[in-house]
Amino acid sequence: MHATVLYGERDVRFEDRPDPAILEPTDAIIRLPVTCICGSDLWPYRGIQAVTSPAAMGHEYCGFVEEVGSDVRSVTPGQFVIGSFFASDNTCPHCRRGYQTSCERSQPVVGAQAPRMRVPLADGTLVGTRDVPDADMIPSLLALSDVMGTGWFAAEAARVQPGATVVVVGDGAVGLLGVLSAKQMGAERIIAMSRHASRQILAREFGATDIVTERGTEGVERIEQLTHGVGADSVLECVGTQESMLQAIAATRPGGAVGYVGVPHGVSLDGRSLFFSHVHLHGGPAPVRRYLPQLIDLVFSGTINPGKVFDLVLPLQQVAEGYRAMDERRAIKTLLRPS
Ligand SMILES: [Zn+2]
Repeated sequence: MHATVLYGERDVRFEDRPDPAILEPTDAIIRLPVTCICGSDLWPYRGIQAVTSPAAMGHEYCGFVEEVGSDVRSVTPGQFVIGSFFASDNTCPHCRRGYQTSCERSQPVVGAQAPRMRVPLADGTLVGTRDVPDADMIPSLLALSDVMGTGWFAAEAARVQPGATVVVVGDGAVGLLGVLSAKQMGAERIIAMSRHASRQILAREFGATDIVTERGTEGVERIEQLTHGVGADSVLECVGTQESMLQAIAATRPGGAVGYVGVPHGVSLDGRSLFFSHVHLHGGPAPVRRYLPQLIDLVFSGTINPGKVFDLVLPLQQVAEGYRAMDERRAIKTLLRPS
């Protein structure tokens, strides 16, 4: 098969790779009707995260089970399944507490920008749908694998409650789906921080009530104005830079909470400022597996349509253009179709 490999900065190749095979009796092989590029794939693409050897790319996936190892019990060939970007056994103490991305046996899932892939720990990682989804529902199910689950975790970590005032920092796919998540959790006011017209439109469609275009200190001042000097109850930090993290904490009211899901790059916090802020911090790699059954139901019932974040669709062989479009912010998120 042909699949996506990153060789170095801005060097994405679509090239011949060995077909995935069952390596462990707990593995499954799935066929991917669609796949996509993640905002986090841009860190190595831009050279901010070093690429030391050619890397099979892609960690968001849903599709049809083709083959399972001899120990797999919960999924069967032909079934439609969705999994998280981290494989987990779903039985260890951390999984049972709902933190599957901290599973004692956790391992990253890679190689999803391909027609087929291997998923380790299939019983713990994959969640099957009751019915085979309609084709138009599949992009929304794909979004659950990472960006929707991550936006949901951001909102939960930020303790979004009915009636709350929420700020979302970051207008990438995760931030936009953080807006959607906060809306689902009953937030009354959702302030999206965004400078891009197309993203502002989608933010409003997902439930944003206000848009703030200022950043940094000016952004914080604007939030203070909008909240009559109080600050937000909940702030979702969906970027991962020093500026975005400080902005998130400063926009939160005493006793409020920041849910941070942007992978930190160069973030360091001053203990004394944090101490006097009275802000709760919770975040990390989203335990997407915990939310999959609930989010699958919300997609099947038509309550949410997170697949709207895909604003560029390309054949998989044009994956390099998909990266360029996201790097240049011409696209929010690229959907890829294996032929
Ligand atoms: Zn576990």
